[in-house]
Amino acid sequence: MTPARTTRAQRLAMPLARHVVRDLAAEHGGCVRPVQLRRTDLHTGRTEQVLVPCGHTLATVCPSCADRNKHLRATQCREGWHLDTEPDITEDEPSDEQRMWIECRSQMQKQRDHAHAAGADTTELDELAADFDAEISRSGMRGNVLPARPERRHRSTRRRQDAPGLPRRAISPRTIGRTYTAPDGTTYRPSMFLTFTCDSYGTVGQGGSPANPAAYDYQRAARDAIHFAALFDRLIQNLRRFLGYDLQYFAVIEPQKRLAPHVHVAIRGTMSRSELRQVLAATYHQVWWPRTDTVRCEDASLPVWHEATGRYLDPASGEFLPAWDQALDAIGTEDEPLHTARFGSRFDAKGVLAGTPDSARCIGYLTKYLTKQLGDCHQATTAAQTSHADRLADALRYEPCAPTCANWLRYGIQPKNPREGMRPGRCTGKAHRREHLGYAGRRVLVSRKWSGKTLADHRTDRRAWLLETLGITEPDPAQYTWTPVKPGDPDHMPPAQRLLHVVADRQRWHTALTEARRRATEPAILSATGTAA
Ligand SMILES: [Zn+2]
Ligand SMILES: [Zn+2]
Repeated sequence: MTPARTTRAQRLAMPLARHVVRDLAAEHGGCVRPVQLRRTDLHTGRTEQVLVPCGHTLATVCPSCADRNKHLRATQCREGWHLDTEPDITEDEPSDEQRMWIECRSQMQKQRDHAHAAGADTTELDELAADFDAEISRSGMRGNVLPARPERRHRSTRRRQDAPGLPRRAISPRTIGRTYTAPDGTTYRPSMFLTFTCDSYGTVGQGGSPANPAAYDYQRAARDAIHFAALFDRLIQNLRRFLGYDLQYFAVIEPQKRLAPHVHVAIRGTMSRSELRQVLAATYHQVWWPRTDTVRCEDASLPVWHEATGRYLDPASGEFLPAWDQALDAIGTEDEPLHTARFGSRFDAKGVLAGTPDSARCIGYLTKYLTKQLGDCHQATTAAQTSHADRLADALRYEPCAPTCANWLRYGIQPKNPREGMRPGRCTGKAHRREHLGYAGRRVLVSRKWSGKTLADHRTDRRAWLLETLGITEPDPAQYTWTPVKPGDPDHMPPAQRLLHVVADRQRWHTALTEARRRATEPAILSATGTAA
C-alpha cells in the first residue's frame, strides 16, 4: 500500500524518529548520552561494548542521570539524618604497598632536606617526592604526608574572624544529638530542618523583583552570593563551638525568588530558636581584599601583559601593577574589610522526627531543585523579573570572584597567579555566569560524618541491591580491562546507535526486575528495600 500523500505541515508534525528514541530512553530511565567503553576479558581475550551512564546532574543535559543523582542524594540525606549510633569511619589498616610508598617518601624527604641544607638544587628531588605523593594517593590513602605549603603571608589571617560574642565549648567527637525518653520508655531523637537566608537588599514584591530597583543594593547582593559558601562554613564552625559537639549537616543551596541564595540544612540534633538567633547574630565572614571603589583600567586602557616577567603593566605609566600580595599588604590596620557577609536575621527552624511523613517531606524539599541550575529554579515570567536578573548579572560582571579573578585588573591590581589574556569583565569563574547567580560553590554540602558514606558508596549500595534482586553475581573487576572507544575506532557506535542499545537494555532490565520482584513476593511478602533503577 502506498502511503497517502501528505502536506509539508503534516510531515513536520510527524515525530522525528531520533527524538522518539531519546525520549523513550529517558522514559525508561536510561542515560541519553551514554559513554561507550570496550571491556576486554583478560582470561578469554573477548571484547564487549559497554554503555556507561554519563552521570550528569542537570536534567537539561540528561534527565535520567540527573534524576538518579537526586534520588541518591535523598538516600544519603535520609540515612544520615536520624542516625542513633555514630557512623563507622574507622580507618583501614594500611596495606604493605601503602607502607612501602610511605617509606620511600620518607627517605626521599631526608635526601632532599640534606641537599637543601647543603645549598644544592633540589628540583629533581622535589619532583621525585611529588611522584611518590602521587603513588601514595593512588594506593588509596587520603590526604598528603606534608601539610600544604604555608601561605607566604600571614597578615590577613591575623584578623579576627571568630565570633567573640559566643560562649565556646570544647568540641566533643560525638556527632549524634540528644535522646529524649518519655515516661513510657519511648525514646525520641529529634533532628532539625533549618533555612537561613541572606539579609535584605531592599523591599521586593511577590515575584521577587524589587519595589524600587534604584534603591536595591545589587553590589551587596552580588558579594553576599560570592561569599555565601564561606559564610556557611563559618556558621557551622560557630554552631559546633556553641553546641560543643561535632554537629553534622546535609545542606542544599537554593535561590530565593529575589535570586539571593539561601540554604536548607538538615542537622543531626536540636537547638532552640533563641540559641540559633544568638549564633546567627555572632556569625559573619569578613573579606579582606583590596578596595574596588576606583576603576583604574577601563576597556580603552587595559593593562598590558609583560611576557618576560609574567606580570601586567599599567599602559599609561609603563609600571608594573601591584602584585596581589603587595595589594593585600597595603590594606592598613585602620581599613575596613571589602565586604562583611552575614545571614539575614530571619530563619526557619523546626524539629523533625525520624521516619515521619514530615521527615520525608523535608527530604523532598531539600532535593527538589537539585536537577536544575540555580538560575533556572525560578524562570522569569515578567519584565520586572527579567530586568532584576539582568541587573544582578551586571553587578556580578565586574565583582572580583576570587584572588585569581581577572576583574582585579580593572582596579589596577594584578590578580594572584596572573596569566596572559586576562580581561576584566571576562573572568571565566563560575560566579559570573548567569546560571549561577554569583554562587560558585557546590549545591549540596554534606559533612564528612553525616552517613559515613560518600555518594559513590550510596551508588554502590544501590547497585549491589539491584544485582542481588536480579540474582546476578558481579564478575571480578580484576578480570577485565576497560578502554574508552573513540570516534575513529572501528567498533565506535554513533550516539543514535547507542541510544537504541540503551532503550533495548532498559527494557530487558525492567522486565527482569519485574520478574524478580514477582518471584520474591510470591512465597512470602518480603520487605521492600528500595526502588527500581
Ligand atoms: Zn546520562
Ligand atoms: Zn572572577
